[in-house]
Amino acid sequence: MPWHSIRGHDRVVDELRTAARSGRFPHALLFVGPEGVGKRTFARKLAQALLCEERPEADLDPCGACAGCVQVEGGTHPDLLAAGRPEDKQELPIKVIRDLCDEFGLKPARGGRKVAIVDDVDSMNEEAANAFLKTLEEPPPGAVLILLGTSAERQLETVVSRCQVVRFEPLPADELAATLLERGVAAEPAEAMKLATLADGSVGRAVGLADPELGRYRRDLIDGLASEGGIDPAEQVKRLDAFAKQAGKESAAQRRRVRLMLWELARLFRGVLWQTAGLEPPSPDPDDRRAIARLAERLEPEDVFILAERAMDADFHVQRNLNLTMLLESLFHDLAKVVNRPGRP
Ligand SMILES: [Zn+2]
Repeated sequence: MPWHSIRGHDRVVDELRTAARSGRFPHALLFVGPEGVGKRTFARKLAQALLCEERPEADLDPCGACAGCVQVEGGTHPDLLAAGRPEDKQELPIKVIRDLCDEFGLKPARGGRKVAIVDDVDSMNEEAANAFLKTLEEPPPGAVLILLGTSAERQLETVVSRCQVVRFEPLPADELAATLLERGVAAEPAEAMKLATLADGSVGRAVGLADPELGRYRRDLIDGLASEGGIDPAEQVKRLDAFAKQAGKESAAQRRRVRLMLWELARLFRGVLWQTAGLEPPSPDPDDRRAIARLAERLEPEDVFILAERAMDADFHVQRNLNLTMLLESLFHDLAKVVNRPGRP
């Protein structure tokens, strides 16, 4: 996979290449930016460039054909280590970090260097971070650590100060639409552009939103919230729970679905705030526009603001693996309290 297949991040490639050419490639990188903009894909690509056995590091351009490149592509390279938060944990366990550091200290199996990708460092607690500091500060010669998080502010200062922070911006809508067409997520340009606009620059979310099941569920929920009678919280919990479970047995897949919906809720309430402020709501969908207009008529802006915050708060707890059903019960209870109230006179 060449760099040009990773759209929208040319600036980052240029910066890293300049560092490589100057012979001062950082030994620890902290990738930050919104979820779903391609940080993980980019990290794997960078690892391939660093482990390529044909092309010089200064080019930072993997050949894609040598044994090193092929093994990275296939996920079998012995010197590319990966660590992250296990599915059932709320934090990145100290043991994961300790094991990674131990393995990172061994001699590279293919004689080059070791590269490690550490996912979800947002969830690294102080204890795990402390276990990591020595390796972060003095990795073995040539070794490179790539940490993935959403923002530098969420990391401990001791971690950030030992890393070169690389920021990833959300993809511009046209780049994202092109990516969706290339990957076959959307069949035609208009559909791709609609998804790209809804996805706020995130490939991951665009892929999720392309799911027709989600489209149907989303429509029902939004229209319900905007309807005269409001929502029945118990019914909504049951429906969202069932919708999540359609994703399969795996908890991560279920949580992804719930998170997509929570983002859609937050977007809906943001749209209502825009409308109240006399601005055009950012949603291109005419049905959404109608729902937004109805909610803007009925609700006080401060309530809408609280609802938007509430949806993002629930999203945070879903990420942290809190009990899904309990979390949804509390969310829909709070939503119903506001939207089921009689409208403004
Ligand atoms: Zn190669």
